[in-house]
Amino acid sequence: MIFRPTLLFAPLALCVLAACSRQPEPAPPDADPAATADASGPARIEADVRFLADDLLEGRAAGTRGYDLASLYVANRMRAIGLAPAGDDGTYFQRVPLLEARRQREGAQFTLQRDDGALSFTFLDEFLPGMNFNAASHVLSAPLVFVGQAVHAPDLGYDDFKGVDVRGKVAVYFSGAPASFSNTQRAFHASGHEKMSQLVANGAIGAIGIGNPVDDAKYPWARGARNWEMAGMRLVGADGKPADAWPELKATATLSVEGARKLLAGAPMPVDEIFERRESGKLESFDLPGRVTLAGATTLQAVDSRNVIGKLPGSDPTLAAEHIAYSAHLDHIGIGAEVDGDGVYNGAFDNALGIAVMLQAATELKADATAPRRSLLFVAVTAEERGLLGATYFAQFPTVAKDSLVANINMDMPVFLTEVTDVVPIGIEHSTLEADVQAAAAQLGVGGGGGPHPPRGPGATFFFELNGGAPT
Ligand SMILES: [Zn+2]
Repeated sequence: MIFRPTLLFAPLALCVLAACSRQPEPAPPDADPAATADASGPARIEADVRFLADDLLEGRAAGTRGYDLASLYVANRMRAIGLAPAGDDGTYFQRVPLLEARRQREGAQFTLQRDDGALSFTFLDEFLPGMNFNAASHVLSAPLVFVGQAVHAPDLGYDDFKGVDVRGKVAVYFSGAPASFSNTQRAFHASGHEKMSQLVANGAIGAIGIGNPVDDAKYPWARGARNWEMAGMRLVGADGKPADAWPELKATATLSVEGARKLLAGAPMPVDEIFERRESGKLESFDLPGRVTLAGATTLQAVDSRNVIGKLPGSDPTLAAEHIAYSAHLDHIGIGAEVDGDGVYNGAFDNALGIAVMLQAATELKADATAPRRSLLFVAVTAEERGLLGATYFAQFPTVAKDSLVANINMDMPVFLTEVTDVVPIGIEHSTLEADVQAAAAQLGVGGGGGPHPPRGPGATFFFELNGGAPT
């Protein structure tokens, strides 16, 4: 898609960052932060976005030349700003080792053998094989068990694994978690990582994620499935093995709502009732009749990508040893299914603009006569679109002492299409930065938010995590 910019930005990120990295000083009543902002800032932000989102960078997918060019550009922008290199070996780059997987149509199979005959499922319309990071090809034949949403939360009085034996079976599960859970609990139990952990802990040898009508109305299967050829990625550990690859699961697959209807047709209750119970939080688990055969082929390739990291040293002799990481992801999803004849997913908002705003914050902070008291790290992370991999790698292997990282502010997709009226700090309840955010918002004359939804029209969003945790 061609990017046509409409940039109405405020130096909001700068001020949030400034407030949380400096001694809180009450602003004089007539202070106007915009008046002190760098006048060439908007043009510089536009220039960065125009370069990073250009078709020539081919959507900046991690592991591609387009991303490598983008990372070279950002490193040299950091050099020009005057940030110190803070990556590996005195460079701006931190190498991130990855394994790339691409599933193949050829060899993909999903069949169900029941007493009354065999059922074949259609590739793409009804099923997609999962990406297998452990083997270039797989075949698995096993009995099936339905495990609701695969949620094991005994402390909340909820367990989808109660009363069923999952060992040696292919588990069939819905996405999500019960609506009765709090936001935080739901986010935890709905995560793919937690579900796979529970399936493996219960002895499953395969997993089938199935669609449901409510989610499909919001995120139609067809829209996601048209990009089925896009690569998946995992971090590679020091042992050379991919992380979160679940080798205990010999095969995985996903089913559309139509595929789910076909698979659940043999269940002990009507399919529509199962769908309805998902919404009301009253799912029951049970064995499904028949044996499923899942087969697939995956092309696996080791690739390197890189985070880009620059440092602005702090001015306080003691506090300079502490680091605040200001992060934004630099990658986007690359080239995929064409939309109106254009297959490049430029990622202007997601997240060239976040990178440009981060670089502008670095520019203004560097130009300030007094540096912030704590040291600041500006981290452009890779492979966010493949599962927050660059951020996770940086959190696991930071290029500064891990316990010196005291806060992280992440910016993703600041869509400044209208006047900024509020700062909505997503995840602030897990952070100690709330008072700083509110002070900075007040300085700018915008609302401090406080909830997950902006009270008045679109605003800017910030993501927080403490102590070097992966930004979300
Ligand atoms: Zn993003």
